[in-house]
Amino acid sequence: MKPATRVIRAGRDAPRQGESVGGGVTFAGVYHAAGDPAEASYTYGRYHNPTWERLENALGELEGGRAVVFASGMAAIAAVFGTTLRPGDVLVMPSDGYYAARLMAQGFFADIGVEVRTAPTSGSGLSGLLDGAKLLWLETPANPCLDVCDIASLSMAAHEAGAIVAVDNTTPTVLGQAPLALGADISVASDTKSLTGHADLILGHVAVRDEELGGKLHAWRKQMGAIPGPMEAWLAHRSLATLELRLTRQCANAQRLAEFLVTRNDVTGVRYPGLASDPSHEIGGRQMALFGPVVSFVLDGKERAERFLAACELVYQATSFGGICTTAERRARWGGDDIPEGFIRLSAGCEAPEDLIADIARALDHC
Ligand code: PLP
Repeated sequence: MKPATRVIRAGRDAPRQGESVGGGVTFAGVYHAAGDPAEASYTYGRYHNPTWERLENALGELEGGRAVVFASGMAAIAAVFGTTLRPGDVLVMPSDGYYAARLMAQGFFADIGVEVRTAPTSGSGLSGLLDGAKLLWLETPANPCLDVCDIASLSMAAHEAGAIVAVDNTTPTVLGQAPLALGADISVASDTKSLTGHADLILGHVAVRDEELGGKLHAWRKQMGAIPGPMEAWLAHRSLATLELRLTRQCANAQRLAEFLVTRNDVTGVRYPGLASDPSHEIGGRQMALFGPVVSFVLDGKERAERFLAACELVYQATSFGGICTTAERRARWGGDDIPEGFIRLSAGCEAPEDLIADIARALDHC
């Protein structure tokens, strides 16, 4: 089946005469469960929910493994660190990935004795740190600078060194890049972003091939209480059906915008893995089916960047990425990333590309 069909059919029950084709949401804190709890399919709302399960079946089908959904992308990352790392273990991770994952590793996990080693996503830095490692954490493309790394060859190197490999696949989603098929052990995503794409919920998931690890992730969620709301899970499943439609349009728009931005002599440092001239293009082209919705570029200084954002009408100023509305932000306003003050992270939405280019051109001319 083609991706557009797979995302629509994923996790859906066969149609039953007289029943809703769309499927509904189950809101439940407690379920009627008399006697031995092991004999009831559902007992308590923190343990299980049929709406989560349908979404997990869908994500599992697409990822090629068992999926466990979490309350947020960060809850999913915490579950991976928490179930795989013990005091004295070594975690290798990118120095240029999502800063909150680094913060968690270098804060809470370093505090309990996990050794955290970091290196840039591009180049051979990460593979050079694998000696004695327990977990290699990758994020490709890395957010926000969009360097990529070779999942297949790093997974091989990590496995030879006795480490397991997790990939934060938030930016491309499983439709744009399939970490488990490329040899990683764990695929993680913030589904707050492209996967759900409407900027109206917070959610995450982890997918694994290993049943034992899948069981541990499930137990972690149950015991830590990092559970998604049923409504969020239902909205995510509903949104998944349009993932291919949304993401192919967003990636085509990102490509057009990147191609436009490189023609401007008042814009520097344009990064998009889909640009043939981009340092990420060669590896990205090998392992990605879609290059993602995020483009980054640099304007001359903080003030010009702020004026540009204020002058845009169609491009909303907002953090995060992956939604149907085009958004952008001056990323350095948050701190935590090694980037210039005028660095803009833009997430292409589903609008007509001509309108977006006209809006951005006008804003650049007037800032
Ligand atoms: N991973 C990446 C690459 C992200 O960009 C983010 C959020 O921006 C997260 C994980 C965390 O996701 P959430 O905000 O859903 O917890």
